Amino acid sequence: MCQVDQTYSAPMGSLDTPSISKLCVKCKVHPPAVLLRVGDPYCRSCFNDYFIHKFRAMLGKNRVIFPGEKVLLAVSGGPSSCSMLHQVQEGLSVNAHKKLRFTPGIVFIDEGALTGRSLEDRNKTNSELKALFESTGLPFYIIPLEHVLELPISVLIQPHVRSTESATSYKVAVAEFDQNNQSVAAQLPGQEQDPAAVSEVHTLKLQQLMASVKTHTARDELLCTLRQHLLLHTARSEGYSKLMLGDSCTRLAMKLLSNISLGRGAQAALDTGFSDSRYGDVIAVRPMRDYSAKEIAYYNHLFSVPSVFIPGLDFKTSDKDSIQRLTEGFVIKLQSEFPSTVSTIYRTSEKLQTACEAPTALNDSPRCVLCLCALDTAAENASAFQATMISEQLSQKKSPQNDCLPTHKGSTDKTQSSSADCSGLCHGGSCCSNRLEPMELKTLLCYSCQLTIKDMSSLEHMPNYIISETQRRLRRSQMKAEISNFLLD
Ligand SMILES: [Zn+2]
Ligand SMILES: [Zn+2]
Repeated sequence: MCQVDQTYSAPMGSLDTPSISKLCVKCKVHPPAVLLRVGDPYCRSCFNDYFIHKFRAMLGKNRVIFPGEKVLLAVSGGPSSCSMLHQVQEGLSVNAHKKLRFTPGIVFIDEGALTGRSLEDRNKTNSELKALFESTGLPFYIIPLEHVLELPISVLIQPHVRSTESATSYKVAVAEFDQNNQSVAAQLPGQEQDPAAVSEVHTLKLQQLMASVKTHTARDELLCTLRQHLLLHTARSEGYSKLMLGDSCTRLAMKLLSNISLGRGAQAALDTGFSDSRYGDVIAVRPMRDYSAKEIAYYNHLFSVPSVFIPGLDFKTSDKDSIQRLTEGFVIKLQSEFPSTVSTIYRTSEKLQTACEAPTALNDSPRCVLCLCALDTAAENASAFQATMISEQLSQKKSPQNDCLPTHKGSTDKTQSSSADCSGLCHGGSCCSNRLEPMELKTLLCYSCQLTIKDMSSLEHMPNYIISETQRRLRRSQMKAEISNFLLD
């Protein structure tokens, strides 16, 4: 921390009187240990209070998590999600000022297959994480991303949910919890799905799927989607009704800007807001969204919060490889010169959240098969989406063998390749007998997910549950069209 003091001591000493800069701005007794903004030095103890209070305040203000509710923490091993885990542990400890009253569990998704890491390497990281999770005493699940290939079709279907819980029902839940507050220590032992148990066929299939995506931008998006599906499935199958994500405000600022560039403006509020209700029964929450990456780094350093470095898909890629990386570089660079960049973008996302919050209206609308958000493709005629569609139709008229249908040539040898491709993964060969065309899938996707699919050379490696759900919906709409003449209005 002496580094921090050194960096800022020169300008501060010249601007402020030495007596102010030498003491914590809060207690005005102790020497500062952290400087978050110029003129705001905190001592160790006050910084701890500030950090903990912010977490509780975020949960208290939003009142989304009910007492006794099962909450699944998605921990990636990175500083932000590990800090979130630490905050939850802190809140559950006996001497916590305001004890947290939910029942947490931990999930980690091992994405090692995508970065080409050896099984040995993956096992090493997993046992490191296992030791970390075991020390918390919470139930945990270490799940290889390969499991996404075996997901059931139900992941993509939104169950019918009760009407949104009001503030009064929250109060009722609190009272009930306080009444029968016998220790909620019915904790399960940790579960780990050993990556060694993952068949090589699945690893290969997952790698083939990612290899069929032509751009880094689309690859990032597809990975994000698959990860979300696996998290959602784990939460549902283990009985968790909340999913806690560790996105910091720095991360969300980057996400907001890159999402707008990716055509996900309509989903911005759900993608970056505090709570995300797109899945219906499981609500995703982002309690770390008030912390900057800098604050988290300071906190983890000062209070020895462990994190595990795991190289991701974007490891060793250049700034210009994808829209996401480019935006990240842009925000970081701007932030270094204008320290309020991140908070300005973040405040904007907060405003979007309140403006677009109408979950009841969204509930019945058709959903994108991939990101599960309400479809934005029924937009008015003047939208960018409509303009793109018109220009696409025009170019298709000129050349029938359009480049957005790259599988067309490949699909002639359907019968030969089908038996080799699925290697027993499909049920009774149903996935191969009627393969999906990109144009068919596109009709069920939001604008942004359409762009992701457009960057794929073929859909043959798409996980089975996505193909099956698409075909189910296509059959239904076809049937609906057939009988439409016989229906009364
Ligand atoms: Zn202090
Ligand atoms: Zn989508």
